[in-house]
Amino acid sequence: MKNFTVNQIPIEVVRKEIKNLHLAVYPPDGHVRVAVPLHVTDDNIRLAVISKLRWIKKQQAHFRAQARQSMREMVTGESHYLWGKRYRLEVVERWGAHEIGIKNNTWLRLYIRPNTSRANRERVINEWYRTELKKSIPPLIEKWEEIMGLQVSEWKVKKMKTKWGSCNANAGRIWLNLELAKKPVECLEYIIVHEMVHLLERRHNEQFRAYLEQYMPNWKLYRDELNHYPLEELVVKEKAIKLA
Ligand SMILES: [Zn+2]
Repeated sequence: MKNFTVNQIPIEVVRKEIKNLHLAVYPPDGHVRVAVPLHVTDDNIRLAVISKLRWIKKQQAHFRAQARQSMREMVTGESHYLWGKRYRLEVVERWGAHEIGIKNNTWLRLYIRPNTSRANRERVINEWYRTELKKSIPPLIEKWEEIMGLQVSEWKVKKMKTKWGSCNANAGRIWLNLELAKKPVECLEYIIVHEMVHLLERRHNEQFRAYLEQYMPNWKLYRDELNHYPLEELVVKEKAIKLA
């Protein structure tokens, strides 16, 4: 079988000596390739791909969102998020100290000196995210220390590329990703609880899940919300499809 299209999505077909179908969506443009066993009929390939159409579209949407994100110029009109709410950036050039804040529940207004570089505008915005996170974290940690009956000895906000949070159980220390300031605050709370559960159980095993279920029965909702725009860099998204 040659390449074909499903819902206007071009699908590249590669035949190989393999047992199952392997579907892959490639960055940055969301190109789709399916590797198929030699004996599978064209109709079955088409059906298998159609059955995963939702997944394909989701991966392609991720790549588009990541592309948009990396293209930000920190200029007026862009969308920026705080606690899951979207604000339009308004950059106002003026002399004096920089200043940033929400205006009229709609705008993220950034006062900055004329000719400030993109990198420096981004630095100011990230400082603001850090400040917002640092205000929100302590009451949440205190709340969960009380509920879980344990102590976090230290926490930090960090820029992390692949993780929303991490935990050093020996030191009783948790690190939280700066990007969490852009997500609904429930997501921050979920990551705090997740990392604090690691103080009780290091691995993601049944015991770990049991703690999560106990403390935060809705945890999957927040995990899914975070996974909707994953942190990972642009990597190939793959899925195996078992043949009936
Ligand atoms: Zn974990």
